[in-house]
Amino acid sequence: MTDDLRPNYDEALVLDAVDRFLEREVRPHVHALEASDTWPAEIVEKMRELGLFGATIGEEYGGLGLPASTYAKIVERVSAVWMSVSGIFNSHLIMAAAVERFGSDAQKARYLPRFASGELRGGIALTEPDCGTDLQAIRTTARRDGDRYRVNGTKTWISNGIQGHIVAVLVKTDPKTEPRHRGMSLLLIEKGEGFRVGRKLEKLGYKGIDSGELVFDECEVPCENLVGEREGRGLQQILAGLELGRINVAARGVGIARACLEESIAYSQVRKTFGKPICEHQSIQIKLAEMATRLEASRLLTEQAALAYERGERCDLEAGMAKLFATETALFNSLEAMRLHGAYGYSKEFNIERYYRDAPLLAIGEGTNELQRLIIARQLIERHPA
Ligand SMILES: Cc1cc2nc3c(=O)[nH]c(=O)nc-3n(C[C@H](O)[C@H](O)[C@H](O)COP(=O)(O)OP(=O)(O)OC[C@H]3O[C@@H](n4cnc5c(N)ncnc54)[C@H](O)[C@@H]3O)c2cc1C
Repeated sequence: MTDDLRPNYDEALVLDAVDRFLEREVRPHVHALEASDTWPAEIVEKMRELGLFGATIGEEYGGLGLPASTYAKIVERVSAVWMSVSGIFNSHLIMAAAVERFGSDAQKARYLPRFASGELRGGIALTEPDCGTDLQAIRTTARRDGDRYRVNGTKTWISNGIQGHIVAVLVKTDPKTEPRHRGMSLLLIEKGEGFRVGRKLEKLGYKGIDSGELVFDECEVPCENLVGEREGRGLQQILAGLELGRINVAARGVGIARACLEESIAYSQVRKTFGKPICEHQSIQIKLAEMATRLEASRLLTEQAALAYERGERCDLEAGMAKLFATETALFNSLEAMRLHGAYGYSKEFNIERYYRDAPLLAIGEGTNELQRLIIARQLIERHPA
């Protein structure tokens, strides 16, 4: 039996239930599932029972309606055990956030309860073979034909694209319009005729969760699946969702950085060199202090961004800073943990090599860290005019 988070609105109780789920249902299976790159069907079923697919969806739609700060703490905990599990509900919830924030009443009623229960799972399909950062350069088109759109194009690197049932797809409804974003829209596309999985993509880390190439070939989508039922709003709609996405990636960074620190603190007290535990060597102490300090700063930045999001404030600066710093900390801590563990850090029998393989994705996904720096700088100028 898995706990159900629904009756528990006290944050401590929610986090306790998540911890129990992780210890019972996830931790014992991580090594085997990671090694075989297996999509964790049983874990997904337990996540449904727990209500994780509706974590941030409003209670009126059957979700848990958790605030972003509690959600960030859940993501941190999950990622400290196996980051891949967080990917299965994170991009699903970004898709749900776009529908909840910008969808019509009919779209909310039709989709949100099924998203919340995990009956319909999915993600967001923005990236294409030729572009990721420069989203306005996408080539996937949706051509209006009576009461439907005909969608053509290829999306790549789509998390949950193979195992999921539906994706929120960024398309060009008017490829010629300038500025380009005015011709972009967001369509909810369910699996069916004209929508096929091209291939599963092989990766350095982030095993278990599927990353797919999706091909749309004259795929017919009813016009009622256009988010907000108005063309030209797609880029804004998805960028607003990415604020939550960046808080969630920051929280993943905090989780990886914490796991690296905790395992390093434990290991450094049992591993001995030159007659004493390595934690008594000053250079190891400096590593632990540096890792711990960066971790605390990452957690505070993430919490600050989540609280701004909860207050409904524009928070691209805060989310950008949290994402940048926490993910760089995950990279830093995973390398320091590997050095500190010596050969055991490099071993498949320990967790450190997995953290080291998972961390770089955080610097790429939900907007690269190069892009975050640009967003932060632009916001600084905008908020502090001369
Ligand atoms: C495991 C995994 C899962 C993913 N899941 C999803 C998903 O679910 N949905 C989805 O849509 N996408 C997903 N992605 C794609 C991801 O969002 C993109 O990889 C990311 O946005 C970067 O795009 P790109 O790879 O095309 O790099 P590019 O945009 O080609 O960038 C290449 C380099 O140039 C830099 N750069 C680009 N523009 C500038 C600039 N103006 N100034 C300075 N530097 C710049 C970038 O920072 C980067 O270093 C996933 C990727 C991975 C690896």
